Amino acid sequence: MNKPDFTLEKIKYSTDSPTFQKAIKLYESGKVTQVEEHIRSYTAVVIGTEPYHVFVEDRRHDYGHCDCYLGQRDVLCKHMVALAIYVVKNGEPLTEEDKKQFTAPICSGKTGILNDSVLHETKKAISKAVSYIKPYNGPSRTWFYYQNSLSEGCNRLSTIISILPVSEQSASLIVDLLLRLDKKLSIGGVDDSEGTVGEFMEKTVEVLLDFYKLDQNCIRSFKKLKNRETCFDWEKPLLDLTRLN
Ligand SMILES: [Zn+2]
Repeated sequence: MNKPDFTLEKIKYSTDSPTFQKAIKLYESGKVTQVEEHIRSYTAVVIGTEPYHVFVEDRRHDYGHCDCYLGQRDVLCKHMVALAIYVVKNGEPLTEEDKKQFTAPICSGKTGILNDSVLHETKKAISKAVSYIKPYNGPSRTWFYYQNSLSEGCNRLSTIISILPVSEQSASLIVDLLLRLDKKLSIGGVDDSEGTVGEFMEKTVEVLLDFYKLDQNCIRSFKKLKNRETCFDWEKPLLDLTRLN
């Protein structure tokens, strides 16, 4: 079977957690059957409540069709995602790493410093993730893809943050990221009316508060946030800390 343009990483970051987890169950219990490759697309019969006929294009896992209730309404369903997983894994078992999804940032709980090359890679990964958080200028029918792009960016960032060692160095990276996102929301034309990016930023601030508990030096990176106009005062808990200290 030819490899599609999408990867497991892509599927994982751009699918909401319940749908991804249900798709994994379908895949692992052998419910994806009769997989066939066509020109630039794949089809299968996925056994759910009924056997569903699923079609996915090879350029994007969310371009396709399924005859289940959701699929008929053009919603990305677990059957399409299950077929997409089958195609990228070629029917092979999923590893624990494959199945792990960070949909919100958490604190790694370990202190440490990134070496130069890891720091460089991390900055590159952050920039790539931030590029998914882009301005909205499409018609309303692309709203789903737009919102999906915002959550993909936030999921990618959540994964990056969740494995960062706690230090002033990482705290400073995160503070810079928050300022970058703030700018995108304030003047960058990002339409976050569903609150995806805002919620991610709030959770990221909580991660920084956890950082401070493990390494008080992190507070030095929060000082950068003084005297700034931000889009929704997300920096307040961090500034409150700098005032106390
Ligand atoms: Zn379906």
